[in-house]
Amino acid sequence: MKNFGLDIWSNKNFIIEDGQIKLNYKSMPSLLQIVEKIRSDDVRGPILLRFPHLIRRQIKTLYSYFDKAIEDNNYKGKFNAVFPLKVNQFPFAVEAITTQGAQYNYGLEAGSKAELILAMSKTSKGANITVNGFKDKEMITLGFIAAQSGHNITIIIEGLGELETILEVADECNLKVPNIGIRVRLHSAGSGIWAKSGGMDAKFGLTSTEIIEAITLLRKADLLDSLGMIHFHIGSQMSDIAPLKKALREAGNIYAELRKMGATELNSINIGGGLAVEYDQHTHSNSRNYSIDEFSSSVVFLLGEIMNAKNVKHPDIFTESGRFIVASHAVLITPVLELFTQDYQEKLLNFKSVNPPLLEELMDLNRLLNNANCIEYLHDALDHMESLFTLFDLGYIDLQDRSNAEILVHNIIKKALYLKFSNPTDELEQLQVKLQERYLINASIFQSLPDYWGLGQHFPVMPLHHLNTVPLRAASLWDITCDSDGEIAFNPDKPLYLHDVNLDEEDYFLGFFNVGAYQETLGMNHNLFTHPNEYTIEIDENSYEIKNTVESKSILDILESIGYDAGEVSNKLKKDISSSSFITEKEKNDTLAKLELFLKQNGYLRTTN
Ligand SMILES: *Cc1c(COP(=O)(O)O)cnc(C)c1O
Repeated sequence: MKNFGLDIWSNKNFIIEDGQIKLNYKSMPSLLQIVEKIRSDDVRGPILLRFPHLIRRQIKTLYSYFDKAIEDNNYKGKFNAVFPLKVNQFPFAVEAITTQGAQYNYGLEAGSKAELILAMSKTSKGANITVNGFKDKEMITLGFIAAQSGHNITIIIEGLGELETILEVADECNLKVPNIGIRVRLHSAGSGIWAKSGGMDAKFGLTSTEIIEAITLLRKADLLDSLGMIHFHIGSQMSDIAPLKKALREAGNIYAELRKMGATELNSINIGGGLAVEYDQHTHSNSRNYSIDEFSSSVVFLLGEIMNAKNVKHPDIFTESGRFIVASHAVLITPVLELFTQDYQEKLLNFKSVNPPLLEELMDLNRLLNNANCIEYLHDALDHMESLFTLFDLGYIDLQDRSNAEILVHNIIKKALYLKFSNPTDELEQLQVKLQERYLINASIFQSLPDYWGLGQHFPVMPLHHLNTVPLRAASLWDITCDSDGEIAFNPDKPLYLHDVNLDEEDYFLGFFNVGAYQETLGMNHNLFTHPNEYTIEIDENSYEIKNTVESKSILDILESIGYDAGEVSNKLKKDISSSSFITEKEKNDTLAKLELFLKQNGYLRTTN
């Protein structure tokens, strides 16, 4: 995996220069530099960095590809997009989305009452709001309130019951009727691990019979003119474009049929989300088989073709891509706290004045190993080690000799790996996997990478520095929860190699990329770890600015959030110290001060790293 697959997943958002990973934008700060600046303020634990320029880049990409496809295909409808809030509802993500999207009239999509309230408070007039998901009368009434307040809102019905409620509310109040959309239950299904949203057995949408019924109901209520949109969503992270094309044909024909049935104000097709993000670090298993170019031209071309054949007005095209817009904007940085097998360090060698002859030979092998003799010497070393183990078992050498032998052989393997890294033998590769190192990261996978825990979703990971040396340690990553699922195991099919670092002498940071979609709200407080400290990084021509700090919750706050009385907890702890015996008043006061400080910090580890 050259350069940690940067060419595959990073979309040129990052580059490697001077051994560090840098933002490939304007003044090009390195991630390490940003992290060190933040940590100089006594911040420890994991850090989440948001880069608004990467959101802008994705919004611009989406709009420009669709606009280009529209022009190329002489398509008559317009392109519109909304951001589905469920993908990231956090304030500084939404702020970046709405700010960066303002020039495009980029809107918001809501899937629950809380999201709808958020959308109503954050969408500028003129931009669209779409509403999906199951709705009750209250939620539908909120839609009327939004329309009355001047929002361009479309309520997309998931079933006939919702339509009946809309008609009821319309009947009962004088508020402006929102646009109505119909989610169609597709015959075709999606692809990828999230593909549960399409197909005959899908959770959402109206069957053709129900759609006809809906038209009848609307016509009877004299509201057919409110029907503006046909919608489908075939599931997130579409790996294959074929199911989308099928869905488009289906939805396109339904649109055309409904226009012919008299739905004259029906003017949009909303193709939902699902546009995939490349998470892969290894060429052989890309996450998707299409580009944004192919995606946008396929959509525009197919819809144009269907409408031309049926002689129907070209619909405006809506997308609700979420993952594609925000995944890249957030990077999780975690310090490495420990390498578990750091005990095999050369500095721990402790030779005697006279050493066993086999050990002397190992010393020579270690000293004289070079590119030409490396495989032969490696075999000799492995053979000697076996013999030395036997000698130890028989009582001929002591523990110090054995320790020296183990360190030397580890070193010889590491040197051989280094010399042959561009062309390792099978044997070397196997040894490399065996020499697997466990890197303890100061973070919680449950909190910060829940899709890894729940779905096995891989996120690109790489160190922030040392990038001009070849990493040779097969790495598994362990988080600091005490749960054995908090581990990203070494996977020989998608191997991760990291550097051998001495954490007593330097910090080592790992970055997890493309974590801006879904991970934040799905993250859970397992072991009572809270969200990481969060920062928005605005980069300009000459420098960068760190803004919008959100500190992770303190230990007391997190206890409070799950229902404890924080005051009671802290009073109890303080009382126990105050009334304890055998320490001086000064010691008591010092201890109380420490306790006070600990309770105000978050629960991540605060070792120097
Ligand atoms: C989740 C969802 C989306 C967003 O999907 P992405 O894969 O993140 O683009 C869009 N529309 C609907 C209806 C959804 O449920």
